[in-house]
Amino acid sequence: IVYLDGHATTPLAAEVAEAMAPYWTATGNAQSPHTRGQQAAAGIELARVQIANLIGAESQEILFTSGATEANNLVVLGVAEAARKMGLRRNKIIASAIEHRSILAVLEELAARGFRVQLAPVTPQGLVDLPALEQLLDEDTLLVSLMGANNEVGTIQPIGGAAQLAHAKGALIHSDLAQLAGKAPVDVVALDLDYASLSAHKLYGPMGVGAVFVSGIAAIKPRPLVFGGGQERGLRPGTLPTPLIVGFGAAAALADQDMMHVSQIQERLARELLTELAGRQVKVLQNAASAPRLSGSLSLSFPGVDADEIVNRLSSTVCLSTSSACSAGQIASSHVLKAMHISDKDARSVLRIYISKYNTLEDIRFAAAQISTAIGSVVVATGPSTQ
Ligand code: PMP
Repeated sequence: IVYLDGHATTPLAAEVAEAMAPYWTATGNAQSPHTRGQQAAAGIELARVQIANLIGAESQEILFTSGATEANNLVVLGVAEAARKMGLRRNKIIASAIEHRSILAVLEELAARGFRVQLAPVTPQGLVDLPALEQLLDEDTLLVSLMGANNEVGTIQPIGGAAQLAHAKGALIHSDLAQLAGKAPVDVVALDLDYASLSAHKLYGPMGVGAVFVSGIAAIKPRPLVFGGGQERGLRPGTLPTPLIVGFGAAAALADQDMMHVSQIQERLARELLTELAGRQVKVLQNAASAPRLSGSLSLSFPGVDADEIVNRLSSTVCLSTSSACSAGQIASSHVLKAMHISDKDARSVLRIYISKYNTLEDIRFAAAQISTAIGSVVVATGPSTQ
């Protein structure tokens, strides 16, 4: 089976599994004073340094969460509630129209709690429209949230530019780096970010662990979402999952080492996939083709083809995703493609691919052949009857 769904989750690296292994059995609570507790604490502190190094932060600015969903909630809800508690007059939050659901759903919640929320539009190439963002920014704006890279179309957003605009108006800036960190160089200091969200399972680490970066000089510390034993500076209490955190750290260190090499291979394979499809006369268009994108990320439109049908037909040979989310049996069009002015009809023909560092040339050739065959049979099956 060929796995090309790395935007959903990346495979666990063998080196990461190895780093985690001893921590499953040699158990100790990082808060305990004995040897096992100290070993756990040391593993966690090393991971904090490894993750900080990956994004140019200080280790004390990294706090662990269950993933990027929780990190996004913690920053956006937590900063909004902290500002309200401090009696700040700023109560507007701006995010881009193509954020992950874990930002957009938080904005809905904030709106219900009386905050003002606005979405900045994106260009047809899937990049936030900075002049439009600048227009939305005002003296009332508390926070801007702009993702590092998009999880459907792979576009790398101009977060440094957005940070400048936000700060010029006295607003704070958060970036959901779940898809960017570990895949392209990120320096939170150079980008001037106040907050960031990370997720281990997008960079060949384990599921169920992530982190927030809270800059030591951020004007507002988020208010916690849960209350308890004071871990993670009281911002995110609860016993830390040592094996997962150790794995997250190992994955960050590995990504730091092999990023350039890996992205070159991924880009070569992505080009190969397009060449193979063209060679098989498959009609395909690449979305956001001229925008800066993650290496190995492809959003492909197959005009007239139902992408869901392709994903289903190939489910046991090639793991792919569409760009649309199925909820309660209804196919909801992707908010990302919609924001890029792609029609609902065209959006239904889009396959989302992320070629991981473990994919080979044989994988790509096999996938191209499978996609081509599936499209041929779908088109025949749904084409006009000859009778
Ligand atoms: N943000 C982005 C951009 C993502 O791609 C994802 C995962 N699909 C998340 C947040 C959520 O991350 P997690 O699975 O760690 O909660």
